[in-house]
Amino acid sequence: MAGSGVRVRLLEAKPDLLHFSFKTLGSFLEPEKYGFSRKIVASELTSMVFHSRWIHTRKHGPARILDKAQVHRELLEKCQSNGVDVLAGTSIKNVRQDPDGQLTGVIDQHGTEHTARLYVDCSGGKAVLTHRYGLMDKHPQFALGVEYNVRYKDRQDCAHLFYGENFREGYGWIFPLGGERAIVGFGSLQQKPAGMSLRQFFERILALPVITNLIEKDNDDIQGGAFPISDVKTKFFSGNVVGIGDSVSQGSPLLGEGYRFILEAASIAAPHLISYLANGDQQDLQRYEREWNDTYAQLFHRHKRLQRLALRGSRNDLLADTLSLMMKTKRSKTFGKLISGDITSSALWFP
Ligand SMILES: Cc1cc2nc3c(=O)[nH]c(=O)nc-3n(C[C@H](O)[C@H](O)[C@H](O)COP(=O)(O)OP(=O)(O)OC[C@H]3O[C@@H](n4cnc5c(N)ncnc54)[C@H](O)[C@@H]3O)c2cc1C
Repeated sequence: MAGSGVRVRLLEAKPDLLHFSFKTLGSFLEPEKYGFSRKIVASELTSMVFHSRWIHTRKHGPARILDKAQVHRELLEKCQSNGVDVLAGTSIKNVRQDPDGQLTGVIDQHGTEHTARLYVDCSGGKAVLTHRYGLMDKHPQFALGVEYNVRYKDRQDCAHLFYGENFREGYGWIFPLGGERAIVGFGSLQQKPAGMSLRQFFERILALPVITNLIEKDNDDIQGGAFPISDVKTKFFSGNVVGIGDSVSQGSPLLGEGYRFILEAASIAAPHLISYLANGDQQDLQRYEREWNDTYAQLFHRHKRLQRLALRGSRNDLLADTLSLMMKTKRSKTFGKLISGDITSSALWFP
């Protein structure tokens, strides 16, 4: 948007924009499509192993583990070269509205008010504006993820996914980062899976032979984050407030892949937001909403249904092994489609 001549101010709570509370970033996104360099790719995968209790399925196909800091470095460079006014260490605490409820300003922790004609909420799960405007649940549900950066013993072009009762209420992953390092992580739909803290449960997972055969944990620097798993959202604006990203739950509900879907949503939104700023016509905001819905709403509802089924499988090894067996019968191309969230009936029911 800034590149098209729109004056953009980015208000970010973190003082350091390249500091993250977690670094897992597996993705099917094509770097070139969004103007990234190949430097964002930490590991180019050629295969993935899907582990349930008794069945271990190796499938071949391309996917990527991205270097999160490099992704954000390149996004930031783009913002700066296009003249975005980036204000780090600026946390939005309050808002000002006119009597009609239209947003007229956002107020940071120092009491400074920032005014604009359009406010885009990209605050992730915090949903700083979207929850006030009914675009996000007041108390959204979150999946929680925890991870360690560890020594990796397997091939750098192979990732692992884990599923079943040992990973109750969620799933585990090992994503190679290059240089014999990997991220091992566990994402849970419960804060206390199996009645213990998430961290205790994760430590138990890390002691499983299926994990210790692949990694060696050599530090205690645990990281983590939260991912909204609310029902599929289909409304993305109210007055002059627009939501993009986790603030309106635009990451895939199935595997939690956020970046590719959120960059797509942003690409859909940008031309309509530019047009809105030129004309002040609310129909432009509706066009963003409509285009996203036409492209993703049906798919996201399907992801949501499969997420519920997957949750049941995570509580029952027999069901997990059955789902795993189904995966085993798939050709690599179909497996790749399913794992990247491209879920069609034919991919589900045929090899
Ligand atoms: C453990 C875990 C693993 C994941 N793994 C993957 C993966 O492998 N692949 C993938 O594609 N996705 C993954 N995701 C999902 C992905 O991280 C998110 O979908 C994505 O980060 C959401 O982007 P966003 O820009 O909407 O929000 P965020 O990345 O959450 O960014 C929101 C920003 O808003 C700032 N902010 C918040 N409140 C305020 C405020 N009051 N004032 C100013 N600024 C504020 C925050 O500091 C933050 O920088 C994972 C998520 C988790 C939790």
